[in-house]
Amino acid sequence: AETWNQVPLAPPDSIFKLTAAFKADTYPQKINLGVGAYRDNDSKPWILPVVKKATEILLHDPALDHEYLPITGLPDFTSAAAKLILGPDSNALKTNRVTSVQTISGTGANHLGALFLSRFYGWNGEKRIYLSDPTWANHHAIFKNVGIDPVSYPYYDPKTVGLDFNGFISALQSAPTRSVFLLHACAHNPTGVDPTTEQWDKIAEAILEKGHYAFFDCAYQGFASGDLDRDASAVRYFEQKGVPMLICQSFAKNAGLYGERVGALHVIAPAKETSDRVKSQLSVLQRSEISNPPSHGARLVSLILNDAGLFEEWKRDIATMAHRIIAMRKELFTILTEELKTPGNWDHIVNQIGMFSYTGLNTDQSKALVEKAHIYLTNNGRISMAGLNTHNLRYFAESLDKVVR
Ligand code: PLP
Repeated sequence: AETWNQVPLAPPDSIFKLTAAFKADTYPQKINLGVGAYRDNDSKPWILPVVKKATEILLHDPALDHEYLPITGLPDFTSAAAKLILGPDSNALKTNRVTSVQTISGTGANHLGALFLSRFYGWNGEKRIYLSDPTWANHHAIFKNVGIDPVSYPYYDPKTVGLDFNGFISALQSAPTRSVFLLHACAHNPTGVDPTTEQWDKIAEAILEKGHYAFFDCAYQGFASGDLDRDASAVRYFEQKGVPMLICQSFAKNAGLYGERVGALHVIAPAKETSDRVKSQLSVLQRSEISNPPSHGARLVSLILNDAGLFEEWKRDIATMAHRIIAMRKELFTILTEELKTPGNWDHIVNQIGMFSYTGLNTDQSKALVEKAHIYLTNNGRISMAGLNTHNLRYFAESLDKVVR
């Protein structure tokens, strides 16, 4: 038989397929709401001014070369990244219980975290990860790749276009002890629905009660609310409460460094001595997978995090992105509710957070937007707020109004 004859054809990634269809469309008012990357008010990618500045500094640094980084990454980057997510008062950091490893952005952090758990977690029976229903589609594949079975816990309630809090808590209470739950730290993808502070409190309580493990995925710190500390509050609260956990961190969105693949995995251990052993094993895994992480993006972020002036500039840039998105939510809400009097409740447009919004549109309505209005979104009714701007918002609102009437 011919080599590779037995390889079945895989379906194309739905988001990339959508982008290709958008590109091929010649309609002048077309809008791409599928893309998971920030766009400015003219639908263009945005290089953060602070990143431009940091790039300039690196370019003129005579001390830099192209040698390998250490296996666990650039130390100035990983230590500052840990402080960014855990906060300056973190007990785990003060007592040296955090192992931080530089990864290939958030995807790599998820993968390394999953691989580490697969090998070393004290599994109570089968290897299983509890994922929110729905979640970032890649979570399913990442855990399957390392032999961990993804199972779903209730999260999104289509009736309220909000959180199914009771379903979520029941799942935490009925899962076997020491189960692993993946939690989106903020700006849940794809729904834009986050638990409130009080709800996080109850979630932490239920996790502690059953001895579960929290696998935090944090892809949007700062990008969600415009405030780095606010978006880290669930993670910090869990650490304070002593919930056993790890954190996957990405700088793709909040630093606009998508293609540079800057991220980190932070594993918190109960004691420093345990942490040393965790670090040794993460190094072994990292060595066999990528040997050493890439240097350029980590150098950029390290400069920004470790220089007080650049750090302040970064915070301003983050606010620029987050506030533009929040402004689009508010304007969309106003046009739908006050001007067009679109049937239905649209509170979720302003209550949801981050780049993505579950509009509540069903499959047929989503398809109608693509086919009739040249507005590209996935069939689940998810839109990327970053695709909206002052030029196309009205056309979008009017088209949305038409498909729900
Ligand atoms: N986790 C979630 C929930 C995401 O939405 C994303 C990006 O869309 C990622 C992780 C990882 O992205 P990256 O690998 O580009 O950092």
